[in-house]
Amino acid sequence: MRTVIYPGSFDPLTNGHLDVIQRATKLFDRVIVAVAKNESKSPLFTLEERLDLVTRAVEHLPTVDADSFDGLLVEYAESQSAQAIIRGLRAVSDFEFEFQLALMNRKLNERVETIFMMPKDTYTFLSSRIVKEIARLGGDVSSFVPAHVQKALLARLLVAEV
Ligand code: ADP
Repeated sequence: MRTVIYPGSFDPLTNGHLDVIQRATKLFDRVIVAVAKNESKSPLFTLEERLDLVTRAVEHLPTVDADSFDGLLVEYAESQSAQAIIRGLRAVSDFEFEFQLALMNRKLNERVETIFMMPKDTYTFLSSRIVKEIARLGGDVSSFVPAHVQKALLARLLVAEV
C-alpha cells in the first residue's frame, strides 16, 4: 500500500491544490491531504474550517482522505505509514524554499521521500493568497476555487467588513 501526504495550509483550498491531489491519486493507493495548523501564518480560516473545506472538496475521490496535523511533518508522515510527501511547484520562485524544506525533511527522516508535482499550466499563477486578495477586492474567484470554497470566502469577507 503506497501512501502519500500532501501537506499545506490550504487557506483556503484552490483548484490548483485539487489538480495536484488528482494527479497524486494516479501514483499512490492512498493520498492524505494534511492541513497544517500554521498559526504563525495568521490564516483567514481556522484549522477546523480549512479541514472542512478540504474534506468537502475530496469527497468524490475514494482514495483521498483529509486530516490535520500539528508539529513535525515527517513525524506525521511516519505515523500514517506514508512513504512520501508531495509538494506542488508552480514556478521557479517556489523552488528554492521547497528544495530547502525537502532536504531538511530528508535530514530529519531519510525514509520519507519528497515528490514535486506541477499543476496544469492554467493553475500555475494560482495561490491561496492571490485568491483571498481577489475575493477581498470584490473579484470573481469562481474559476479558481470550488463553489463551496467561494461561498465560504464571501461569507468570511462580508463578516470582516461589517
Ligand atoms: P504552504 O503554506 O505549506 O505553502 P499552501 O496551502 O500554500 O501551503 O500550499 C500547499 C502546497 O501546494 C505547496 O507545496 C504549494 O507549493 C502547493 N500549491 C499551492 N498552490 C498551488 C497551485 N496553484 N498549483 C500547484 N501547487 C500549488
